[in-house]
Amino acid sequence: MSRRFTLLYIPDSGKKARRILISHRLLGSVVAFVLLAVALMGWLVYDYSSLQLDQQHLSQLLVENSDQRQQLRDMQRDLDGLQREMVVLAGLDARTRGSLELDAETPVTQPVGIGGPLEKSPADMSELQKQINDLRLAIDLRRESQEEVRDLLNDKHSLASATPSGWPTKGWVTSYFGMRAAPYTGQRKMHEGMDIAANTGTPVIATADGVVVKSTTEPGFGKVVMIDHGYGYRTIFGHNSKLLVKAGARIERGDRIAEVGNTGRSTGSHLHYEVLLNGVPVDPRKLL
Ligand SMILES: [Zn+2]
Repeated sequence: MSRRFTLLYIPDSGKKARRILISHRLLGSVVAFVLLAVALMGWLVYDYSSLQLDQQHLSQLLVENSDQRQQLRDMQRDLDGLQREMVVLAGLDARTRGSLELDAETPVTQPVGIGGPLEKSPADMSELQKQINDLRLAIDLRRESQEEVRDLLNDKHSLASATPSGWPTKGWVTSYFGMRAAPYTGQRKMHEGMDIAANTGTPVIATADGVVVKSTTEPGFGKVVMIDHGYGYRTIFGHNSKLLVKAGARIERGDRIAEVGNTGRSTGSHLHYEVLLNGVPVDPRKLL
């Protein structure tokens, strides 16, 4: 039943013609084989070119990867440098605190990686992130510590400028702080200041920063100035001939506030200089 194709082969020079019979099935097989071969070729070509593309992509990725590893190494090196500087800063801070007798309760953090070999294999990102966080924490601690140091120094500075020191005028001491025979009555009485004899008109200067709380004339001290310095300190300057400041004025150490005189209960031109600490007279000689 199968149909057949007939292939007629006719040579050009008088030889006998030949007839070839091809079955339909054979033809089908040949066509199928050719199609299959073409498909196989196509797939091979496709596979090969995509392999080529993959190769390109891979080498590109390798380059990127190596770049990124280099960047990681650089970052790690920078971070190591920062950590080393931080350790130096922490040491300086600890020394400052020590010299100010502040307790070293601020922990000196030793960030990871300190003291390690210089050329380390690059850490991964999470390790770098952890080191950055540590560093940030260390910076915060140092900042807090430095603020505390600054406040303390400010306090010390204020206390120093509020504490009377130095001579209030140029002259010679005629009466010290302590028990003495009172000039008028002759009775033994507490002398709550120091008398410095000087010519009338000799400048009287403030011995610490403060605010004038009194600048007036009184029976005992005559023309008198009182300065409040804070921290419990007050100074009194009595028997002046002239007052140069008014109550409420802000005064710095060394400012001229009066001139020496002989006003009030006084037996000669002199300055009565008195220092009060929390209302109690203290010996001014200890603060000269
Ligand atoms: Zn006196």
